[in-house]
Amino acid sequence: MNKRKGILIVVSGFSGAGKGTLLKSLVSKYENYQISISATTRSPREGEKEGREYFFVAKEKFEDMISKGEFMEYAQYVGNYYGTPKKYVEDRMKKGKDVILEIEIQGALQIKKNYPDALLLFVVPPSILELKNRLLNRGSETMELIESRLRRAKEEAMGIEEYDYIIVNEELDFSVEELHHVIEGAHHMTSRNMEWIREMREQLTEEVKGE
Ligand code: 5GP
Repeated sequence: MNKRKGILIVVSGFSGAGKGTLLKSLVSKYENYQISISATTRSPREGEKEGREYFFVAKEKFEDMISKGEFMEYAQYVGNYYGTPKKYVEDRMKKGKDVILEIEIQGALQIKKNYPDALLLFVVPPSILELKNRLLNRGSETMELIESRLRRAKEEAMGIEEYDYIIVNEELDFSVEELHHVIEGAHHMTSRNMEWIREMREQLTEEVKGE
């Protein structure tokens, strides 16, 4: 088939659905993935490092980047800005990587509109009780913040149909495989291989020329 072109992949899901762990595990198991690093105005959580989880920037700097058109998409989430740096993603896609954007739904919808080839995946926990437990067990957040994340989940649940696939994250290893297979499947879609299909048709035409 085609020399593989990188796919732009959007992964959203409720905060606490386990997207972060799922994606880290996917990337460590398979070489073709690259997770994009976003810019945000929120403060680093304990253990987070500049340039690893996020580029942590001040609000003024973020707004300056917006005005210069440096984001593929950006959105506000629970009082902070989050955005995907265009250059970071484009550079990696040129190298043939499947670039994963772990972003919330407003950003996902901007990507869907501006990059119609993107694959949109939504990760959910096996149940809402499980979601609540995971948020509580994180321990790093106040009850108020947890409640605002649950309210946000309720809103995001209304937009799930905009996504191409849903991944139920119950058992990590299983979900990693499922995610990988869905993306592999996308590489085989006819619409992503038209160049190769045309070449094959030309070759067939050559083969039967004399008939
Ligand atoms: P957190 O503060 O928990 O790291 O992230 C909060 C939410 O922001 C998550 O749903 C995460 O997926 C989303 N997010 C992270 N980076 C971006 C981004 O660049 N753009 C958008 N639209 N959302 C993002």
